[in-house]
Amino acid sequence: MNRRGIINRKPVVIPFSSRLREGRALAQDVWSIFNAANLPPDCLNLGQGYMNFAPPKWITAAAEDALNTVGPNHYSHPKGRPRLRNAIKQFYGPQLNRDLDVESEILVTSGANEGQYSVFTAFLEHGDEVIMFEPFFDQYLPSVTFNGGKPVYIPLHPPSHDIPKPTSNDWTIDFEELRAAITPRTKMIIVNTPHNPVGKVFTRAELEKIAALAEEFNLLVMSDEVYDCLVFDNKEHVRIATLPGMWERTVTVGSAGKSFAATGWRVGWLIGPASIITPTLAASTRIIFCTNSPLQEAAAAGLEQAPLRRFFETQLKEYQERRDVFVNAFDRLGVTYTLPEGTYFVLMDSSSVKFPDDYPFPKSVLGRGRDFRACWFIAMEIGVSSIPVSEFYCEEHVSIGENYIRFSFCKDLDTLRAAGERLQNLKKYLV
Ligand code: GLN
Repeated sequence: MNRRGIINRKPVVIPFSSRLREGRALAQDVWSIFNAANLPPDCLNLGQGYMNFAPPKWITAAAEDALNTVGPNHYSHPKGRPRLRNAIKQFYGPQLNRDLDVESEILVTSGANEGQYSVFTAFLEHGDEVIMFEPFFDQYLPSVTFNGGKPVYIPLHPPSHDIPKPTSNDWTIDFEELRAAITPRTKMIIVNTPHNPVGKVFTRAELEKIAALAEEFNLLVMSDEVYDCLVFDNKEHVRIATLPGMWERTVTVGSAGKSFAATGWRVGWLIGPASIITPTLAASTRIIFCTNSPLQEAAAAGLEQAPLRRFFETQLKEYQERRDVFVNAFDRLGVTYTLPEGTYFVLMDSSSVKFPDDYPFPKSVLGRGRDFRACWFIAMEIGVSSIPVSEFYCEEHVSIGENYIRFSFCKDLDTLRAAGERLQNLKKYLV
């Protein structure tokens, strides 16, 4: 007690878990830094990958119906609502050439992210290695380390500078490098096709080589295919689970958010053999118990009605037009970019954009890759936001990623045209 009768208390510090020190969990995530709330209100938001349009009316109507019915306002079965599991079976079964068992081969999850997290929880022992192609979707890293795993990075080699108009297919895998990275501790490999952020659609030949290694070394394959409905230019989306011998060791990941313009719904699913889904269900049940119910009903309606409405065919055409309209801005500007064969992302090479070193950058982008500052500068001066690609690289490889910035073109055409016009003002900063 001091003279005035006030007790001198030490500041309260409850130590947090050491696992937060791994997997970059304590660094501010890129989505928060480049959140619309931190940017000027008139900035056109081509950063985080979400749409500036609503899901189709016939799907939101199904959500409303569900909210106005007693059952779907309450818990669902941890496996997912029977209607959605049936819809997944009907929709994906033919694509996977299987009569899927809704009880043991399908699991509905709170977004693809939680599904993948649960796979790691179910399968990783401390020190198990998980191979991921770099750049990698940033959530993989903490999801692996929180579960005791060790990420191992295999580069997608960027297109060489003498390719004048690279496509995502020019980002290549060195299969000797991949083989050399496999150790007795390698447990899993993550495949992401179409790939975020590169837009690469893995070819059948590439997937066959990955599959051969997975068989040789008895690896579990997590195939993140959340952009499966966005494969352009008549390219083929190959599901690695359909290659000979691969069903038994593959879990395929899907997402209502990407398929139906509903990224905030957090409804995703896993499909695979019972030997993978059952342990993952055990983990998922104890993490979330179940996924939100009404929006599972809506996602079910989406999958049920999509074929008759030719919904995915129409949506794909719309996205291909969005892509073509938007990349035209880069052609006019004369900057190098990777034409994506899939997803709604496009990478621009930002190494030619010159910005003043003494620009008033916020602390959040200092001490990160150059691309963080490039994105900030472009958002402030040009009025279009994007995402720095070094966030999708491990710390040792930031120097590769910091050459690129990622724009999302899941926006209406007017916004994309306006963004394209604004980007022409970058010309004066190009060297
Ligand atoms: N998948 C989205 C993207 O890459 C973002 C998901 C997230 O914010 N974690 O833009």
